[in-house]
Amino acid sequence: MKTDTSIYIHIPFCKHRCAYCDFNTYAGQEDSIPAYVNALIREIEFIGGRSGQTNIHTVFFGGGTPSLLSGPQFASLMDALRAAFTLTADAEVSIEANPGTVSPEKLTAIRKAGINRISFGVQSANMEELRMLEREHDFFTVIEAVSTARKAGFGNLNLDLIYGLPEQSLRTWQTTLQRIVELEPEHISAYALTLEHGTPFGKWSSKGLLPLSDPDLAADMYDYAEEFLKNNGYIHYEISNWALENGESGTDRLSSFSCRHNLQYWRSLPYLAFGAGAHGYASGYRYSNALRIKTYIDRLNNGQNSKLDFPLSPAAVNQHKQTRQDDISEYMLNNLRLVLAGVAESDFRSRFGSGISDIYPKEMNQLIRDGLVEKKTSENSEVFRLTKRGRLLGNQVFMQFLP
Ligand code: SF4
Repeated sequence: MKTDTSIYIHIPFCKHRCAYCDFNTYAGQEDSIPAYVNALIREIEFIGGRSGQTNIHTVFFGGGTPSLLSGPQFASLMDALRAAFTLTADAEVSIEANPGTVSPEKLTAIRKAGINRISFGVQSANMEELRMLEREHDFFTVIEAVSTARKAGFGNLNLDLIYGLPEQSLRTWQTTLQRIVELEPEHISAYALTLEHGTPFGKWSSKGLLPLSDPDLAADMYDYAEEFLKNNGYIHYEISNWALENGESGTDRLSSFSCRHNLQYWRSLPYLAFGAGAHGYASGYRYSNALRIKTYIDRLNNGQNSKLDFPLSPAAVNQHKQTRQDDISEYMLNNLRLVLAGVAESDFRSRFGSGISDIYPKEMNQLIRDGLVEKKTSENSEVFRLTKRGRLLGNQVFMQFLP
């Protein structure tokens, strides 16, 4: 049986560049949005024409700020996707949005275009923290955006949070979590702040201008989130992700609100990439497109006759043919992120023809001895998964499987 594929579409526009962000996104280039949408449609047609009958079961519009596009622009992109691929009847189609960029009209049009899941970048409910992150919204805007999304018919909402901020206290984090669950989202993501090289936050911290957050306090915040969200009915299914329990947990104990698109990444399954700087993994390739908006548009406008292997389009500037060892390493790094499902011996063996302990005998024994990984039996298969300590010291575990 052919595995269903996913699609990631990158929208690299933001009204303002936040000081901690290292995503491929640009402020002040909104004039290029119409040309960019046309280039995306060309890329979708180009890849779709070479993909055969590819079933797509998830689509993710990420950014950047995808909600800067208009309803009609989303409708044209969705039409292009439906013409080029077979979207499954129950496809999960997500969009990332900034709370300050949505109106009832826009959300109604986006929902009508077929987008059924929305992920709001909330980050914090505390005004000081939002200001420090240079976010342009306050928490009232979040409350309004959630209510507008509900009225527009979105039954699957994610709210994104960041913890471990400079000068953030456990108290303000607890308040943020409380306010977030009061909004009753189906899904919550919480990531620790990382100070990325090349961002203003990275520069300020290396010059001692930004107080560093205390790693012990960040660990306490993570502990608190695990406990608090569990008590409020959320299943912790991935290191940084929680989904509302809805009685539909399957064999790997996932809520049906778990993000199916991100599960595709964590299970090392194929996804096609569209847009500037987008990364894809399909047909044995990992590949990525040109970063700059103008270069991306020019390459799509000029390269329609290129003879390229599927899944590469004229926008692709990096390609890597995966070795078996690449796939095995990445499989371990990705699947270990799944808190409950972990890495199943049966799935690993059916993909790679050998057992996990045959390939990583020393590493697995050591990680189990150190209390970072545990071995359980589930559904007649052995499963390796991170312990609570392993989730806090994830990098120590992941280092063992780097190629
Ligand atoms: S809105 Fe999001 S993507 Fe845009 S700059 Fe801020 S953090 Fe980055």
